[in-house]
Amino acid sequence: MANTSISDIDNLYSVQAKHRETVKHSTAQQRTKWLEELLKAVLSNEDAIQKALYLDFHKSAMETAITEVFAVEHELKQIIKHLTKWMKDKSVGRSLLFPNVSAYLHYEAKGQVLIITPWNYPFQLPMVHLAAAIAAGNVTMLKLSEFAPNTNQVVRTIIEKIFKPEHVAVIEGEVTETTHLLNKRFDHIHFTGSPAVGKIVMQAASLHLADITLELGGKSPAIFDRNISLRKAIKNVIWAKFVNAGQTCIAPDYLLAPRQLKSEIEQLFKQELEHAFGENPQHSPDYARIINEKQYKRLSSALSDAKSLGAQVVAGGSLDERERYIAPTVLSNVATSNPLMTDEIFGPILPIIYYNQIAEAISFVNQKEKPLALYVFSQDNKFCKHVIRQTSAGSTCINDAMIQILHPNLPFGGVNNSGIGQSTGWYGFKSFSHERAVADVKLIPMSKMFWFPYTEKTYKLLK
Ligand code: NAD
Repeated sequence: MANTSISDIDNLYSVQAKHRETVKHSTAQQRTKWLEELLKAVLSNEDAIQKALYLDFHKSAMETAITEVFAVEHELKQIIKHLTKWMKDKSVGRSLLFPNVSAYLHYEAKGQVLIITPWNYPFQLPMVHLAAAIAAGNVTMLKLSEFAPNTNQVVRTIIEKIFKPEHVAVIEGEVTETTHLLNKRFDHIHFTGSPAVGKIVMQAASLHLADITLELGGKSPAIFDRNISLRKAIKNVIWAKFVNAGQTCIAPDYLLAPRQLKSEIEQLFKQELEHAFGENPQHSPDYARIINEKQYKRLSSALSDAKSLGAQVVAGGSLDERERYIAPTVLSNVATSNPLMTDEIFGPILPIIYYNQIAEAISFVNQKEKPLALYVFSQDNKFCKHVIRQTSAGSTCINDAMIQILHPNLPFGGVNNSGIGQSTGWYGFKSFSHERAVADVKLIPMSKMFWFPYTEKTYKLLK
């Protein structure tokens, strides 16, 4: 699809501005109906979604079913189930200081919102965040990434079947179109992407003091303790790291492991990668490709730089530029100055760093920006608690990786450089709503107690 023209963006923005009050006052029943229609359309388009993701980055049908369709289905069902309850005013309890006041939170739609999404889960991310915006009663401009054109087409078809453009408008474009959007007044901007662009979005939001959610990235570590079931932990890391060919914001970026387990760990990685993808992963039907040439070049040049500076290839390491294929690769001894150790990898390369004492591993993590996720593998609860207390991360999963994102009662989000604000489930609804504080004075108004002129009696009321 071609980029949305600037004049179309302006028109869509104006019609949405006119329509925002209607959508804001939609009932739980209306919003639930929209979400049910969306769910139905997602499920009935599963084949088209799978084909599109295969065309965009060779993603297997099963991987699309798990990480794109199921993730959206799970989120929509969760919202549909709870929306009526979430929309109700919530009492915050009485206070002895204000016995005559009924205090509650009222959830009002923010109004007109902008959602900007990246390419790495090009179906899941737009749909999940859009669902929250609809649930909260907003009109929405949904800007898709320019790098997944086939999936964008399916997203557009599904949305345009259900929503009028004055309610939800799909925008395609690059920096020019996004910059144009960012200059407009929105009540909330929800951005998913890199920390570098997140800073641009935050600056733009300050123009109109728009509220923001920033879902960003970072270097998410996995930390092994000594006493674990190594094979199981390595299988967990392999799945989380190599699903979507490593192009996952919460994938383990690197592994910190006890030095004395080095040979066992490396042996197991070789064995388990072969079990997962066969002798030549390029022939595996389950293994995706790198999204585009720019990302392929970034990763292949970091890999060759790492090798030339003495990195050892534990497993994988082969490439094929024509297919934008990079084998699932595990490295050790990567120079700390290499981009694989300084930047978010966002590809199928896993460096292992060996530590002698856990304090070294913690200090290594803390020298970097706060990550989006941190994984800890240990049978010792004290070890896990110690790692959690001594570090900071958007989320943590103990003895597995990535499943925290699917837990219906946990928020998803980063911290500082890895993100601001929270998404999914109740937290997504809350982000797209204004939580308005209401004090309903039932008996004597406070102004009657503290009326002018102030006297000694007024002062005594405070004591
Ligand atoms: P990106 O920041 O380059 O792009 C994200 C979006 O911003 C796209 O729609 C793009 O068109 C737009 N954009 C790019 N440059 C822009 C500019 N200069 N001005 C305005 N808009 C601009 O990110 P990406 O490469 O698409 O995605 C990869 C990044 O996203 C990684 O850092 C990854 O960790 C992160 N990510 C985070 C999450 C999360 O939920 N926290 C999920 C997926 C990806």
